[in-house]
Amino acid sequence: MIVKFWGVRGSIPTPGSDTARYGGNTVCVELNFTDIQRRIVIDAGSGLRLLGNDLLVEKTACGSLEADVFLTHTHLDHIIGLPFFAPIFQPETRLKIYGPVTCEDESLETVIGGQLSYRYFPVRQQELAAHIDYINLAEGCFDLGNNIRLTTKYLNHPLLCLGLRFEYNGKVCCTAYDTEPFQNLFVTDSRDPAFDAIMAHQGEAAAREENRRVADFFADADLLIHDAQYTQHEYDASRKGWGHSPMEYAIKAAMQSDVKRLALFHHDPMRTDAQLDELTKMLCDGRHMGDTAVFFAREGMQVEI
Ligand SMILES: [Zn+2]
Ligand SMILES: [Zn+2]
Repeated sequence: MIVKFWGVRGSIPTPGSDTARYGGNTVCVELNFTDIQRRIVIDAGSGLRLLGNDLLVEKTACGSLEADVFLTHTHLDHIIGLPFFAPIFQPETRLKIYGPVTCEDESLETVIGGQLSYRYFPVRQQELAAHIDYINLAEGCFDLGNNIRLTTKYLNHPLLCLGLRFEYNGKVCCTAYDTEPFQNLFVTDSRDPAFDAIMAHQGEAAAREENRRVADFFADADLLIHDAQYTQHEYDASRKGWGHSPMEYAIKAAMQSDVKRLALFHHDPMRTDAQLDELTKMLCDGRHMGDTAVFFAREGMQVEI
């Protein structure tokens, strides 16, 4: 399969000369299974607009367009491109949109449709010409047909967010964004009046178990696309609990799970190209990474696995 990065930025699109080389569009990744004419899109950030324009050229050649769109979660930077995805205005387009929902009284269709209302956009959801099926996704294993297997894993983010592991022909592409390491949620300082030794112990065990499950989820992936919004220093200083990972943690996690290639992804909107070049020199030289190749994802980059 060919993996193409259409958007690699987190939180908000960041156009401008400081971000032009790595790219300013928010997250969107395409998996193209060229031998079986299947296409999977992971997240609908602003990068989806560029993919849509590309697909329209293809549609002109073959007359129709089908794709499965997987949403890791519905934060704005992961769905903002959907209203600008040109194929949704074409009746020959058939889409399946999968995603997790947290409010049981609201369907995925309703959550996504929120931004397709006159208040925010000139076209309403019911006016879209494409045929779209909305499918709720939970943690589990799924057969997507054509021998494509999907495993999903809940990650650690303020909103329910799924990691996705696609397997096809013995090759594995795995995503983990947006997420941070699971932590003990209980007070661990015995001098704190709220400290409870049993709760602290149970919290520690629960975090360790969830991190172990994440490691299993990454195991032996050919490509892991992992949240790397912060440096370890930034994370430790003030960003714990914000739902994003330090780069150093992503590298360690990939190495421990024998991942072959790690794409550091969901770049902080404040991170310039020059800073990412500098971080590449510091973190991606391969000296301490065993067999794991590490790189910072760039918009437009393609990886064949
Ligand atoms: Zn995000
Ligand atoms: Zn998020």
